[in-house]
Amino acid sequence: MVVVGVAVAAGLVATAAFYTTHQERSVLAQNERTMRKLTESVIEGLQSVMLAGSADIAQGYADRLKRVPEIDDFRVMRITGIEAFRDNSTIEEVNERRGEEAFLPREEERVVRILEAEDAALKTVLETRRIVTLYGEDERGEQTLTFLSPILNQDPCHKCHGSAKPVRGVLKLTTSLAQVQRDILQARQDSLLVLAMALMGTMLLTGYMMGRSVVKPIEQVTRAMSRASTGDLAHDVPVKSGDELGRMAQSFNVMTSELRSTYDGLRREQDKLTTIIRSAGEGIVLTDGEGRVVLVNPAAERLLGKSAEQIAGDGLEQILDDPEQMRAWLERSDADGPATVTFGDRVLQVFASTIHASEGHVVGSAALLRDVTEEKRLEEELRRLSTTDGLTGLYNRRHLDATLETEWHRAMRTHEPLSVLMFDVDHFKKFNDTHGHDQGDRVLQTVARLFHDHLRRHDIACRYGGEEFLGILPATPSSGAMAVAERIRRAIESAEVDGLRVTVSIGVACVPEMAAGTPSEMVELADAALYEAKRSGRNQVRLAGTPGDADRAS
Ligand code: GH3
Ligand code: MG
Ligand code: MG
Repeated sequence: MVVVGVAVAAGLVATAAFYTTHQERSVLAQNERTMRKLTESVIEGLQSVMLAGSADIAQGYADRLKRVPEIDDFRVMRITGIEAFRDNSTIEEVNERRGEEAFLPREEERVVRILEAEDAALKTVLETRRIVTLYGEDERGEQTLTFLSPILNQDPCHKCHGSAKPVRGVLKLTTSLAQVQRDILQARQDSLLVLAMALMGTMLLTGYMMGRSVVKPIEQVTRAMSRASTGDLAHDVPVKSGDELGRMAQSFNVMTSELRSTYDGLRREQDKLTTIIRSAGEGIVLTDGEGRVVLVNPAAERLLGKSAEQIAGDGLEQILDDPEQMRAWLERSDADGPATVTFGDRVLQVFASTIHASEGHVVGSAALLRDVTEEKRLEEELRRLSTTDGLTGLYNRRHLDATLETEWHRAMRTHEPLSVLMFDVDHFKKFNDTHGHDQGDRVLQTVARLFHDHLRRHDIACRYGGEEFLGILPATPSSGAMAVAERIRRAIESAEVDGLRVTVSIGVACVPEMAAGTPSEMVELADAALYEAKRSGRNQVRLAGTPGDADRAS
């Protein structure tokens, strides 16, 4: 643009300079021609006057000519460079040639030298007998144009002046070029003004055209790009031409249209995802890369008992009121799986994770919360059901076997004593037969409760099968186990169920006091002691390996 502007301006300036110079030259030439014509006609007039023999009139003619505004100076001089009509030398010469006093001498004589006799211009005029033109300056510094014109010695002149000299004298006519210079200056100023206006007009027109054809379309694309950068892809740029700008606008429109359809697709996917997230049973809390909470679904609000605003305000780390724990979860790897925590009256499964982009930088974090309260309750119930006996609520045989195994190994490891007691309801078959099976069940429930209540917290009460029960007493020597067994026996003996009573026979075994190599062997020892108690009359406690009353009697 700048180059084009400078080139156009330079072209206009060059044209204007050429035109002005040309005008100046032609004005000066015209002026010169006019003044030359004037000089020629002056000479003709003067010669006529001279021939009429009126030299004084010629002087008056010359003086009057000086008053013409265009004429600065007008002189008639002899070929010697001395002004004519001022002294009497010519008059005397003419009178002498004619032999009469044809012309009266002047009373006042003055010798005025106009040019030196050796003046180059004067000599040229005399030699060439043609008009010589001189440009110069006057005392005011203004340019002048001077004509030196020969006055030829023609036949009519010979009478007075003889024929020896081809040139009689020289006319010197000087005109001021000030007015011409002023006209030229005015012409220059006018040209400059026209040039400036032409330049301004060109620039305005160029600017307007550029604005229309280049700037406006670029602005439209720029505005659309700026709108697109803020996410507004709804506006197309008008395609007004098939040039580069038009193609740029077209490409931009294609790009925004592609972006729109991609964006719409993403929007639809996002809507689907949002719907899924919002309707999900799991609580979901999402943050952006700066850790600001950007999504809380209704399930999360429900599970945490907090509003979305409160959760967003507190931040992800605070959702379970344990920021340290949450930080630890967010820092661990996905493979660690979810953690289970109790929050209020709920059991929550929490899966917290930091989300990384494929390039590795953090784009956010997420916490998934699943309410597993009911699951955990059912699990617990199932576990309880699988380990307990339905009728009595005591541990069942399966749990007994597992626990006994564990306690056995602990005892072996710690060298602490381990006791078991086993008891069986006396004559229960008969009781059932007499009072009915349901009554028998109620009695068994009471026996089980009494059994459980008379054990310590770490002891384990199990229903061994039928109306047989087994107690595991960790860290208990036989003396302690015997005492416990006795307390149980007595409690049952004195308890009444619907006005009915039962008794039990108890066998006790203990390691390491007794030589049992396995848990089963220890149970067998207790069973044998129980058998002994039965044999010895029932309703009694018997330590394994000790003779019963019946044996002692025999
Ligand atoms: P003993 O003094 O020798 O033990 O005599 P007993 O009649 O108790 O003989 P045994 O131990 O062999 O009898 C077990 C009886 O216990 C048989 C059965 O009718 C009764 N029984 C076993 N399990 C249950 C139960 O769950 N409910 C009821 N009501 N009775 C049971
Ligand atoms: Mg039995
Ligand atoms: Mg029995």
